This record gives sequence, structure tokens and C-alpha cells, in this order.
Amino acid sequence: MTTAQKLSFDVQLSDAARAAAERDGVLAAPGFGQTFTDHMISIDYTEGRGWHDARLMPYGPLMLDPATSVFHYAQELFEGLKAYRQSGGSIVTFRPHANAARFNRSAARMAMPELPEDTFVESLELLVQTDRDWVPTTEGHSLYLRPFMIATQAGLGVNYPSRTYKYMVIASPAAAYFSDGVKPVSVWLSQDYTRAAPGGTGFAKCGGNYAAAFVAQRQAVENGCDQVVWLDAFEHRYVEEMGGMNLFFVFGDRLLTPDLTGTLLPGITRDSLLTLAADLGLTAEEGKISIEEWRQGCESGELTEVFACGTAAVITPVGSVKGVGGGWTVGDGGPGKLTLQFREELMGIQYGTRPDPHNWVHKI
Ligand code: PMP
Repeated sequence: MTTAQKLSFDVQLSDAARAAAERDGVLAAPGFGQTFTDHMISIDYTEGRGWHDARLMPYGPLMLDPATSVFHYAQELFEGLKAYRQSGGSIVTFRPHANAARFNRSAARMAMPELPEDTFVESLELLVQTDRDWVPTTEGHSLYLRPFMIATQAGLGVNYPSRTYKYMVIASPAAAYFSDGVKPVSVWLSQDYTRAAPGGTGFAKCGGNYAAAFVAQRQAVENGCDQVVWLDAFEHRYVEEMGGMNLFFVFGDRLLTPDLTGTLLPGITRDSLLTLAADLGLTAEEGKISIEEWRQGCESGELTEVFACGTAAVITPVGSVKGVGGGWTVGDGGPGKLTLQFREELMGIQYGTRPDPHNWVHKI
């Protein structure tokens, strides 16, 4: 349950912060999730006491008992969002309260404590303010923020959830996902593996969902594709989502995205695009789409574009599809007009080159 307790953060600055030259070397080619900033956030939770010991501290390893619950029963969850340096120099995050709300929905599913939304957002603000020089100035680059929570009780009892937890935030400078424009991806329709079933954890951002996905992603690559597309658990027929991104199907001026049945992650980019589509006068629907409809739509030309969306790669066109029964091309295989327009609109809001009519950006 979310409690109204107000935490104050103890600030312990690093005396080993990297020098500007070293930092600039990293920022020149940051990659993704490889290098971390000088500090991190840590807040502890104890049943009966609530959240306590909120602190900003030097980035560094954790020491945990080998019997700690998270190592055995994967009681953990995470979030992902970015801090952007806008054209005027200010630093913003994008809809951080939406990440806070999703964090708590994941927590409820994983029998973990909820963190007050304001504390979640405050923890991001404190880390980004402290490590603000790590927010890249290069266009399209950003500081990726990774809040997460782990079960920290030591013991192998599996009949009850942990009574202690640790919430943390770490930050890592990130390059643009594509260095040379928007490259369409090829996707593999997974028939052998299922990501989620009703009543499971598909809507939660918990590590187990990702651990179970690696084998399918590897199969996609073995079949010459970039990414795996997940299908429904019963018929392996209806499209759910792609790797770590949600999918949109464009039929002329009508957009369709798989509805939130509890088996896919409710992406914040997905939600934002549903709103942006309405702003642009397009029809945006949430519903079902089968792989036959996908193939037939591409063959008849009614389905003009397919794209994936998420925080890390923003918007990525899907150029071709492959499954056990063969493959097909989407449109001419290149990025579609609306795909590119949505990408520009969204990045324009995030980087401050376009108005923000829905107050999505949150100044740090
Ligand atoms: N689906 C999955 C499985 C994901 O991991 C992500 C990334 N968080 C998304 C969709 C897209 O979500 P968002 O737009 O909030 O980044």
C-alpha cells in the first residue's frame, strides 16, 4: 500500500567522481547501458516500518547474502525512462509519474510494497540533478534511468514474500538507438514460446518476463530476424508485442494497437501515441490483430505501415515479418510516413523543439 510518509534523502557525494575529460570520453560514444554515473539512489523497506534510509550515495556494488530472496525467487521489478537535455539547456524527464504508477502496479502483482509516487519522482530528480553533467548534449542522446526494486530477505522459504526490500535508481548515458537514421527491423513470429498468459505477469515490468524471453529472441536471430514478436498464449495467432516495445498497425489513417489484456506491458510511449494520434486527427483504436490480418493487410496494401514504440528506441519501423509458414514485407520495407511523423512529434516534445500540449515533460 502507498503510504503518505515523507522521506528525506541523506546525500553522500562520491569522492571518486570521474573527471570531466573521462566523462566526456564516455559521452562521445555512450552505447547503451554500459557505463553508469557517479551516484545512485537507495531506499530500504522493512515490513512494519515502511520505507527508510533514503539516500543518494556513490555508485558501487551491493553486498548481499547468497540466500537473498531475489536470487532464488526473482521477486524484483524495474522501470526505464530517460532524462533529455532540451535545446535551451534545461533537463527534463518524460511522464515520470506514469512510470511511478506502473512501478506500483508491478509491485502489487509481485507482492512487493508500493513506493509513494512523489518519492519515486523525487529520487529521479535528485540523481539527475547530482549527475547532471552526465546528461548528453548530443542530439538524440539521453541519460537512461533505471529504477528497480529487489527482495532482500535472506532465506529460502518460498511460502511468503520477502519482508525487506531495496529500491534503487542507477543512470547510464545512452546513444541514439540508430546512428544512421531509422532502420526498419525484421521480426520473427514466435510459435514455440509464449511470453505471458492471462493471470500471469505480462503487464508487470518484472525481470522474470525478460529472463524467459531471451531464448525466443535468440531463436529470432537464428532465423535471420532482429526481434521477436509475441503472440497470444492460446492460439499463437493474435499479436501482443515485440521484444521490449509495443506495436502499432497503420491502415491508411486508422491506427490499431493490441489492447491491454493483461498479457502485454502498458507502454508509456504507446499511451502517448494514442493521444498524439487523436491530436493529428487520426483514428486510434485498441483491439485484436491476427497474423493472418497482418499478412493479408500487407498483401492487399490496406495495411500501410507497422511500427514498434518504446522508451529506448522511441519509434522503430517494422520492415519485414517471418514465421514458420514463411514471410512478407510491410509496405515497401522502408519507414512509413506516419512512422516518421510520430517519431518527430514525440522526440520534438522530449527534446523541447515542439510544444508540449499535454504537459508531459517534467523539468528537473
Ligand atoms: N513492452 C515491453 C516488454 C517493454 O519492456 C517495454 C519497455 N519498457 C515496452 C513495451 C515499452 O514501454 P515504454 O513505452 O513505457 O518504454
